[in-house]
Amino acid sequence: MLTNDQLSQWDRDTFFHPSTHLAQHARGESANRIIKTASGVYIEDRDGNRMLDAFAGLYCVNVGYGRPEIAEAIADQAKELAYYHSYVGHGTEASITLAKMVVDRAPANMSKVYFGLGGSDANETNIKLVWYINNVLGRPQKKKIISRWRGYHGSGLITGSLTGLGLFHAKFDLPLAGILHTEAPYYYRRPDLNMSEADFTAHCASELEAMIEREGADTIAAFIAEPLLGTGGIVPPPAGYWAAIQPILKKHDIILIADEVVTGFGRLGTMFGSAHYDIEPDIITIAKGLTSAYAPLSGSIISDKLWKVLEEGTDTYGPFGHGWTYSAHPIGAAAGVANLKLIDSLGLVDNAGITGAYLNTTMEAALADHPHVGEVRGEGMLCSVELVRDRDTRTFFDAGDKFAARVVAAMLKRGVIARAMPQGDIIGFAPPLCLTKSEADTIVSATVDALNEVS
Ligand code: PLP
Repeated sequence: MLTNDQLSQWDRDTFFHPSTHLAQHARGESANRIIKTASGVYIEDRDGNRMLDAFAGLYCVNVGYGRPEIAEAIADQAKELAYYHSYVGHGTEASITLAKMVVDRAPANMSKVYFGLGGSDANETNIKLVWYINNVLGRPQKKKIISRWRGYHGSGLITGSLTGLGLFHAKFDLPLAGILHTEAPYYYRRPDLNMSEADFTAHCASELEAMIEREGADTIAAFIAEPLLGTGGIVPPPAGYWAAIQPILKKHDIILIADEVVTGFGRLGTMFGSAHYDIEPDIITIAKGLTSAYAPLSGSIISDKLWKVLEEGTDTYGPFGHGWTYSAHPIGAAAGVANLKLIDSLGLVDNAGITGAYLNTTMEAALADHPHVGEVRGEGMLCSVELVRDRDTRTFFDAGDKFAARVVAAMLKRGVIARAMPQGDIIGFAPPLCLTKSEADTIVSATVDALNEVS
């Protein structure tokens, strides 16, 4: 067996890691672990250290690790048919079954699903769909896309542009022209602390409408948003946000893309986050929870109304010229079918609501008086803790303090993995949906102890 030293050497010599401080990693300063195995909510590294993964990988291993039902479905599919493409109308039992299962679970106005590989390429597909649709409808100037500061939609050229976090723009020459960002629905960091929640919701809505009017509604094709800001800090929207935003989009004939890569398949205690917030999207992006990350697979679910335009387009202009070799890959689809069956049979959507609420209320109670905790917030099986130097003035720590990163490192010493979110001192939690209350208690006590150690 290869030694850890050998693997670490090869790693530094040859492996270009995503979202990594490359120079620190090369110097051996990053928190790299070589993971060996996992079961339930626990992962284990090659030294036998067992850690509770309170972020489910990258909020994706929704059913938990080590599920034999999914592993066997993948193996059976690989033996029977590892690959066939889905171009020009081809399919497999797995991909067709999964399409049916996805559409059956989606909101009633949704009728088709296009399969890709990950959330970024699904959002890339969505923007192409929107542009294509507006061309077919004879309004070629209606192409700009509005997303939100602090939104996360991927890290490709278009999707990195849609993402509203500086880290994903800087030095990449993003955002591209035609992608606009409006106010983040982030009440804790509202522009004026005297604003009530209702006033802040109205402010977000009027900022959006002002942008649409400034640019001209006939130039805006779509608005893309996560039901709840995820990577931007795990921030539930202020009350009434979606009820205020949607009429503006309808009024200006702007397509609504709900990016449910994180919230899809149960994380908020409902099958889709759209149901949780009464959102009526035209397109829904899915990925992570679709297979619980047992294989890469994503999807764009689209409404019947938009589908009719696509059909019309191909009758006029010929075949729809968009596809990946691995669209609807049979192994990913087999994983998806087994995963969705498990989510149902284990009642994981309900558990996400119940145990997620327990995690959130327990965390809030445990940190209520901590001088460096500005806010504990969350929804379903998502929770975050915003850390501040001073809770009355909400002052940030200096970036050089790396406060959240140090808390996360102190939690790791206690055997719990949380995530220092990329912008601000925010610790994120997004455990597998099968989390138990006693595992939630373990997360909370590790957070409290780590915070006390670092403060
Ligand atoms: N959309 C959202 C809401 C996400 O959280 C992510 C990833 O975290 C993506 C899109 C991009 O997905 P991927 O990393 O699979 O490309």
